Amino acid sequence: MTATFVGMPAFPVAAREALADTQLRHNLTHATHTIRDKRARVVAEVPDWEELRQAGADLKDATLARLDVHLEQLEASLVARGAVVHWARDAAEACAVVAEVARAHGVDEVVKVKSMATQEIGLNEALAAEGIAAWETDLAELIVQLGDDLPSHILVPAIHRNRAEIREIFRTKMAASGRAAPDDLTDDPGELANAARLHLREKFLRAKVGVSGANFAVAETGTLVVVESEGNGRMCLTLPEVLVSVVGIEKVVSSWDDLDVFLRLLPRSSTGERMNPYTSMWHGVTPGDGPQEVHVVLLDNGRTRALADRVGRQALRCIRCSACLNVCPVYERVGGHAYGSVYPGPIGAILNPLLRGVGEDAQVDSLPYASTLCGACYEVCPVKIDIPAVLVDLRAQVVDSHRDDRRPKAEAVAMRSAAWTLSSSRRLARAERGSGLGGRWLVRLARLPGPGARWTSARDLPTPPRESFRAWWRRTRGPRS
Ligand code: SF4
Repeated sequence: MTATFVGMPAFPVAAREALADTQLRHNLTHATHTIRDKRARVVAEVPDWEELRQAGADLKDATLARLDVHLEQLEASLVARGAVVHWARDAAEACAVVAEVARAHGVDEVVKVKSMATQEIGLNEALAAEGIAAWETDLAELIVQLGDDLPSHILVPAIHRNRAEIREIFRTKMAASGRAAPDDLTDDPGELANAARLHLREKFLRAKVGVSGANFAVAETGTLVVVESEGNGRMCLTLPEVLVSVVGIEKVVSSWDDLDVFLRLLPRSSTGERMNPYTSMWHGVTPGDGPQEVHVVLLDNGRTRALADRVGRQALRCIRCSACLNVCPVYERVGGHAYGSVYPGPIGAILNPLLRGVGEDAQVDSLPYASTLCGACYEVCPVKIDIPAVLVDLRAQVVDSHRDDRRPKAEAVAMRSAAWTLSSSRRLARAERGSGLGGRWLVRLARLPGPGARWTSARDLPTPPRESFRAWWRRTRGPRS
């Protein structure tokens, strides 16, 4: 459990490395096309899908506009039903709460439902530092954890692995953390799932503390909701004596009527199913049934920063369906690791800078540029997040944040030079003559064997005209009086 995104290079560097991995590209193309085709089929079955999308977007916006009110109502509802509510400003505070609960019960291990929020705050690493092992119980997360790997997709964290690789991970790594995989394990999906099931069942049955996230939190009743496909979530939420749920503050929905809309949008957008197999709901403590001690950690960790961003706040509508990843031409080629975060793909390209702020970290600043702005992500998003518009706005913020740098970036130097040239007609005329001449030389050079020829093998490099428009105008119409 040592893999971490900390110290990842900026997107262009990481993407170049990923592009060299042909097996990764093959795995990704196969997986993303399968999911997106399935999604397109089930979405086409819903005649009012566009109205449903609009309703999802409007409901999220209305809740975010009065987030403080809904959060206080959620807290009151949870407390009334016997839960203990903790407020965490950042990752450190949230991890400290979970570690404290685990320590209070004297445990050295917890079982976890797949949760983006706990990955975002680095909970596994924080607990490991306290001597507490956090066992992932989602199949894909288990593969990532056993392989000492990093997740590369929101919904399918091990999307970059194929069956043969998974078999190898199970055979070589399972024994070190519990029940070993059978010696004769093949790469048949049923056999792999069964090996994981037996391995995990032991952990479910002995764990005293479970950790989860939540897809939604209903303010009016204090109900937390986890949507999943494998049933591991249901086990984690019901078997342990103590449950700690780490929930981003943007997960709150006002009422069960609002929840209805999102439960119709999410399964079709994420797994391409009409209805997901398991929807678990719980609120506080029910005597004699399920965990008898329930903690809820309401996590900010940059969300109020994102909420303050006039254009970017729509990213908080995200229901983590991952549809935008599966249609993104950039994600399909480079995979999730290149984004250096648990939130990869188009949503990661906006969410990471919004949560962490721009101008401080070159890796974060590189993410808004990790897009062709083709708009496919917006077309599929079930809550109509205009990701391209947010990307463009974030690019402007990145540029603005570097205006006073001592060593200006190449882009800033180029823009200043352009401004200087364009502000004088004489300088512009000289530049036109020079660029025409230089451009023609460049075209000739590009025809010679070497890097130039390689670069132009898939790109156009038109020969500049011998005479610029302005020179032609002057020659044919005479100088301006
Ligand atoms: S941005 Fe939209 S499409 Fe992407 S994960 Fe979030 S809800 Fe899904």
